[in-house]
Amino acid sequence: MPVFDHPEFDHHQQIVFGSDEASGLRAIIAIHDTRRGPALGGLRIFPYAGEADALTDVLRLSRGMTYKSALADLPLGGGKAVIIADPRRDKTPELLRAMGRLVDSLGGGYITAEDSGSSEADMRLIREATPHVSGLGRQPGESGDPSPFTAWGVFCALTSAVHHGLGRDTLDGLRVAIQGVGHVGAHLARHLHAAGASLVLTDVNREALAHLAEELGAEKVAPDAIFDAEVDLFAPCAMGAVLNAEVIDRLKARVVCGAANNQLATPDMAERLHERGILYAPDYVANAGGVIEVEWQQRGHYTREAVMAHVERIRDTLDEIFARATAEQISPASIADQLARERLAS
Ligand code: NAD
Repeated sequence: MPVFDHPEFDHHQQIVFGSDEASGLRAIIAIHDTRRGPALGGLRIFPYAGEADALTDVLRLSRGMTYKSALADLPLGGGKAVIIADPRRDKTPELLRAMGRLVDSLGGGYITAEDSGSSEADMRLIREATPHVSGLGRQPGESGDPSPFTAWGVFCALTSAVHHGLGRDTLDGLRVAIQGVGHVGAHLARHLHAAGASLVLTDVNREALAHLAEELGAEKVAPDAIFDAEVDLFAPCAMGAVLNAEVIDRLKARVVCGAANNQLATPDMAERLHERGILYAPDYVANAGGVIEVEWQQRGHYTREAVMAHVERIRDTLDEIFARATAEQISPASIADQLARERLAS
């Protein structure tokens, strides 16, 4: 399994493979870049088909965290950790403490946090073995759930995208399709409803979908039908790699802006969106609200007002990206990558 010649290898600073026989831990931590600060990124626990898939994921996700933190103007680098395990079956306190020891062995170069497959309770177990855990809430008993901040950041991103893509300064009267009404999607739906948008919602969790649709008077559709919805905006808030050629060709929306990580199935999908005249808000710019809040928890002077003001700067960053994309006639995703690299180099 090549590492330095891997297609997702991007001069990552450190890639650590860790195992623990007693607990069955098999994990990889990738530190992509620490020029701006320690590498913060979540711990994904997933039953990867093999270590090659786990390596691909951790290389790609850690690089994404570097770019996300750089564009959110945070004093952080990018890192990510993966455990090859089924979170529903294999997660034990011993496994998580062994993971904590692996994180600790990096001396704070990598700071872990929740991600898919890992919960706040898991982070508390990991913290028994290392202090390098974030996003646990500032007070004992307080939830560290960053999703309300992520949702507010996506809402701010949407206002920028609507301005640049639809020439409108209000969301009132717009139709928005949301794929996934979980932690972030549900908060986002409520913000949009309050702003006067009408909603088309979907989720594979029918109960959650029915509940939210009733609360907001929203239309609900089957998961696959969301791509054909007659809407102005599409907000992917479920899983990654949703924007493939077939989906892009079906979309009626003129703007795509959501919370999901790695929305583009392949990087060239950014050009396809651009060619179809669909304005795409780069995912890692739009969904940075959560990491902004998590980073503020590490500062000694956390206030909700300061965090919200920082999250709202996502709108300014996107304004800059969209303006440059228009001027240079290239996709916003390419501009975002360029801007992140410029910030890293300075
Ligand atoms: P979540 O698990 O709470 O919600 C995801 C929802 O999507 C669930 O309700 C799930 O049933 C639904 N879903 C899954 N597959 C689907 C499908 N095929 N069609 C329709 N619905 C489907 O997760 P979340 O915390 O709300 O995060 C949503 C996305 O945003 C994820 O991609 C996550 O990586 C990303 N993200 C989240 C945060 C955060 O603060 N939570 C921050 C940055 C990025």
